[in-house]
Amino acid sequence: MLVALVDANNFYVSCERVFRPDLERRPVIVLSNNDGCIISRSNEAKALGIGMAVPFFKVRDLVRQGKVTVFSSNYPLYGDMSRRMNETLMAFSPDIEPYSIDESFVGLTGVERAKLIDYGQDLRATMRRWTGLPVCVGIGPTKTLAKLANVCAKKMPEFAGVCDLSDAALRERAFRALPAREVWGIGHSAANTLTDLGIHTVADLCAMDAGTARRALSIVGSRLIWELRGEPCFTLETIPQPRKGVSVTRSFGNRITAFSAMSEAITTFATRAAEKLREDGMAASHITVFMRTTHHPKPADAFTGYANSRTVSFITPTCDTREMAQAALKAAEAIWKDGYRFAKAGVYLGDLMPFERVSSDLFNVNDREESKSLMKAIDGINNRHSRNGRDAIFLAASGIRQHWRHRSDQRSPGYTTSFTDLRRVRA
Ligand SMILES: [Mg+2]
Repeated sequence: MLVALVDANNFYVSCERVFRPDLERRPVIVLSNNDGCIISRSNEAKALGIGMAVPFFKVRDLVRQGKVTVFSSNYPLYGDMSRRMNETLMAFSPDIEPYSIDESFVGLTGVERAKLIDYGQDLRATMRRWTGLPVCVGIGPTKTLAKLANVCAKKMPEFAGVCDLSDAALRERAFRALPAREVWGIGHSAANTLTDLGIHTVADLCAMDAGTARRALSIVGSRLIWELRGEPCFTLETIPQPRKGVSVTRSFGNRITAFSAMSEAITTFATRAAEKLREDGMAASHITVFMRTTHHPKPADAFTGYANSRTVSFITPTCDTREMAQAALKAAEAIWKDGYRFAKAGVYLGDLMPFERVSSDLFNVNDREESKSLMKAIDGINNRHSRNGRDAIFLAASGIRQHWRHRSDQRSPGYTTSFTDLRRVRA
């Protein structure tokens, strides 16, 4: 086995910069939902000492002084850039395993060992040309080594963005320079356990005996050691696993205290969940709605908030937005309680099956063919005309102003997903 891990540098910031080249080489940050804290930083922002996951208010002065450019997160943009990234990878290999929004494993079967670095550099250059994204490439005989090679490619300038750890001599040198916590799957607490055992570097970890490793890191952790030694334990999973369920949940930018707002939110979530189902050609057998207040347990008193959920089953599995929304509202009504400030709610669709396998039965009052063509028409219109994540056509029950939505004051336009937000160029 030979595998590469391709990982975008400062992904969210890089997505923003593709459409704002004036921000190259400048400090840029991207905020989490509700503009709460910092989730992506350009190297220049890191150099200013801005930490990861720092609350936004701590750097607000820097932003005001014009020293840092800030963006609210723009997930339609990032999701679409991620899709472009994987499409580009398909030009290099038929075996792609997307691992997270900004990184994928790429099977390298058939690539000559002597040409791996050239291959990696070609991939980087092509990715930059086709998508505008800067990436680093880590190569190795196991997934764990490819991950670690990517760390080297990112952190050690001498690799120029591509590192191949299939060479045992290079591996030995790198292992002595890397702390054990850089290994994929070694979390915070495992790293502490290792430190107590005197295991500091990847080289120490690699030299651990099997018994100690299993006691310290469990079976899964001990597999990492085999992987570090070049023995594959994890295979490339290129076939997308069928979804078991679809969930859409949100924390509210402003707490919800009125049922009218909650019903808008729940309708919106049910709409989005139904869209996801249709994208996959699936239908759901039931829908679960949940809502909860914040929990700030004070030392003396227990949880004084409220949390509840309710499931409604469909007589016939469906992916029709109207049926979803109707059922979701029924569930929401059943569990709503006045007097609470709700911080989070969501819907979950369970027991999925392919839509084409759903048989129309005696009790099915809805016309499936009519439903299918209506939903297809709505999806078509929304795909073409939605703007900044807002649909062109939606159920009125979703609400127009949606005060419960996230705060995202600094969100960039939907450059790649919305026709009205296309970048204008003059020649
Ligand atoms: Mg990344």
